Amino acid sequence: MPIEFDKKELVKYPFLKEAHSLVSQKAYSLTNLLELESGRRLAQKARDRIKAALNMDYVFDNVTGASGEIPEHEILSYAIARMIVSCMNERPVIDKLCRYESERAAYFLQREEPEKKEYIARSLGINLRSGEMKVNEYVELVRDLHDSKWQLVNRDVNAGNVAVSRDEAEELLKERIRSMLHSQLPLPVPEEIKEKFKPLSEEVSAVYKERVMEQFGEVDEGAFPPCMKAIISSVTDGTNIPHTARFSLTAFMHTIGMDITGIVGVFTRAPDFNADMTMYQVDHISGGGGTEYTPPQCVTMKTYGLCCQDAICKSKKIQHPLSYYKYKKKVTGNNAAGASSRSASAPSVQSPSAHSAPSSSAHPKSDRIGARIDAKERERAAKNAKD
Ligand code: SF4
Repeated sequence: MPIEFDKKELVKYPFLKEAHSLVSQKAYSLTNLLELESGRRLAQKARDRIKAALNMDYVFDNVTGASGEIPEHEILSYAIARMIVSCMNERPVIDKLCRYESERAAYFLQREEPEKKEYIARSLGINLRSGEMKVNEYVELVRDLHDSKWQLVNRDVNAGNVAVSRDEAEELLKERIRSMLHSQLPLPVPEEIKEKFKPLSEEVSAVYKERVMEQFGEVDEGAFPPCMKAIISSVTDGTNIPHTARFSLTAFMHTIGMDITGIVGVFTRAPDFNADMTMYQVDHISGGGGTEYTPPQCVTMKTYGLCCQDAICKSKKIQHPLSYYKYKKKVTGNNAAGASSRSASAPSVQSPSAHSAPSSSAHPKSDRIGARIDAKERERAAKNAKD
């Protein structure tokens, strides 16, 4: 029997082709729509959708038309939100919107009739019933999932298929929705429409920058957790660091608001620094490959062999390197409240010498980072002077 969705159901899954057909039938012209009061309200609704995404406000129990909303308008607000983030050219905002939409869909899928859930999964290439997935499809799907349970080495593989339980398949469905939405953005937006969205996209951009500043304040390398300091130390020493270390450090620096130039600047401390390769890797991890990454949590860092706990990690039972950083900034007084109004996209990173007197609670290996970096820099400066 064919699966059918009514209008209110399509509000829950606006990315389905059926939802697209519903609003296409109405032949809305976006330019005309935005001239109308109702269109302006729709654009504001779309803006609020993005703000909810930036605030990670994952509350979805009142969005299915029950409050008198017209289903087509709900679906259009999804489409307009995608256009607004496409105008902004801020990858983290795109990423947050895609996460929000996938969380939203997952919320409704949890409460969905099994046949409809399976239909949606099938339309996205996932069979919820089979209990397995072809290796190549699985690897592609978990590419951006860093929990060790998804690593192929930790899976049962048989005759080219990976065993996947029903619950796991549903988790992977959420990831498929996120990556599918991400692969579609940014959309090409005509200049005329960009101009109309400009006030809204500027408003959202300001909110995004505020959130980064609120969360992390000014970048302070002295407050980095010992694991990240130890990786920087290895980079500076010229030790060949594993991909997991490079990934973790880059994702960490990106998440706390460092721009690509600042991140690459840290890697220039390596004696064998390769500009092109580093630029490519950093850009990819920072979202250039279509996905913005966040650093692994402590439990994953431990499995990578990158954890080197200090007294703060132990006494505060730190679970995530970002929590360490926030805590350390707070106790050293350099938190968001005291941060300047500098843009989060162009933070100043303390020079290595600025933390030559690290906290006594730092990991012993990390304690020596400042001094080692200073020595390297002095060496380089002397070499440059000779040249
Ligand atoms: S406990 Fe966490 S923050 Fe501390 S060193 Fe280990 S991974 Fe880093």
